[in-house]
Amino acid sequence: MDFFVFSDKIACMENYDVIIIGAGAAGLSAAGQICTHGGKVLILEMGATPARKVMASGGGRCNITNTSANYQRYFGKNPQFVHSALTQVSPQNILDWAYKNKIKLIQKTPGRYFCADGAGKVVDALLNDARGADIFYNANITSIEKTDNQFIINRQFIADALIIATGGTSFPVLGVSDAGQKIAKQFGHKIIPLRPALCAIAIRDANSELAGISIPVKIKIGKNIISDDLLFTHFGIGGPAAYRASLYNLDNGFEINMLPDINLYEYLRNAKQTNGRKNLSTVLSELLPTRIAKSIAQNNINNIADIKDKTLQEIAQNVNHYYVSSDKIKLHGMQSAEVVRGGVDVNDISSKTMESKICSGLFFAGEVMDIAGDLGGFNLQWAWSSGRVAGINAVCKKSE
Ligand SMILES: Cc1cc2nc3c(=O)[nH]c(=O)nc-3n(C[C@H](O)[C@H](O)[C@H](O)COP(=O)(O)OP(=O)(O)OC[C@H]3O[C@@H](n4cnc5c(N)ncnc54)[C@H](O)[C@@H]3O)c2cc1C
Repeated sequence: MDFFVFSDKIACMENYDVIIIGAGAAGLSAAGQICTHGGKVLILEMGATPARKVMASGGGRCNITNTSANYQRYFGKNPQFVHSALTQVSPQNILDWAYKNKIKLIQKTPGRYFCADGAGKVVDALLNDARGADIFYNANITSIEKTDNQFIINRQFIADALIIATGGTSFPVLGVSDAGQKIAKQFGHKIIPLRPALCAIAIRDANSELAGISIPVKIKIGKNIISDDLLFTHFGIGGPAAYRASLYNLDNGFEINMLPDINLYEYLRNAKQTNGRKNLSTVLSELLPTRIAKSIAQNNINNIADIKDKTLQEIAQNVNHYYVSSDKIKLHGMQSAEVVRGGVDVNDISSKTMESKICSGLFFAGEVMDIAGDLGGFNLQWAWSSGRVAGINAVCKKSE
């Protein structure tokens, strides 16, 4: 698709202060601000309905924000980029907004907020904020022209500012596109390659007998430690710990500690002294689910007293420091990933305004940029923050 069509026969165009591409979390947040500031705004949305990822978020209960949002919970070439927008539009601002809109919130863990009555309430509130906007659904962007200070879309709509809020390409069943990244590229922006993140991890030689078991673990990736629940699946690992691990660069593999609070070697040696007649599987099942204990003990049916320390040490090493090398790892794919790593390189975008440093009047909002947040409400917080900041600054363009 070539977005740039140059023609001098442009007639009967509708004028807007701002055009937004994408009626998702960030696009609607931007539109709300533009409407509040008296701007005339058009949203072009390729789908038949708005904010489909918000509707699906948090298993339908939308994990709307997390009060511990700061740049350390974000990933990309330059995570500090999020700092200004998160300060301008903080998690507390979103909690206040939810309160004002009578969206009932519940905290699953401290600081992590979900919508008690479902994600639909959030989408309703976003649409209410943006009720002054024209929204065209099933829209197809065929051309974008830039004059000195205006953008012309499809030779039909003209605006002083353009906000790209097309999101990431993960979870394609909800309807996604990489049009935003393509548009950015054609305006001279660099694109960091896209890959799935916040997804399950396939592991070659995974033990499918453990599928369905969930345990708390620590995953160590370089110097980073993730403490969360891990779900064994028939193809590898899932659950929050695996999802969070998928955000990192796994080129050097990672280590799983299945008993994060216990030094298993010491425990087994102690059992050898005090409970020598128990077999290995029985001792392990005091600490781990039986299926895992049996799988680790395998055919070793000896009393623990008869097992050499060296063997116990090897077993403990495998439980406390189970190493998964990079050649065994494959991310489980865009189909089920909650976000993408990569996107429009933020080095060419102002962190204070979300405006392109390359093309005046062009703004970005949300996941289309090379920013991905940790599991726990950080991605939507980024969409709300960057969307509102882009909206406020884009509407200022009309008076320039
Ligand atoms: C299953 C699932 C659950 C999630 N749960 C959570 C959660 O609980 N908490 C959390 O913080 N994050 C969650 N996320 C991530 C979060 O939903 C996204 O990070 C967030 O929606 C990104 O906002 P956005 O506005 O940038 O993109 P989106 O919300 O994806 O919106 C982009 C919009 O642009 C439109 N669009 C794309 N291309 C075009 C085009 N060419 N022309 C016109 N329109 C176009 C799309 O149709 C879409 O409406 C979840 C994601 C998934 C997939």
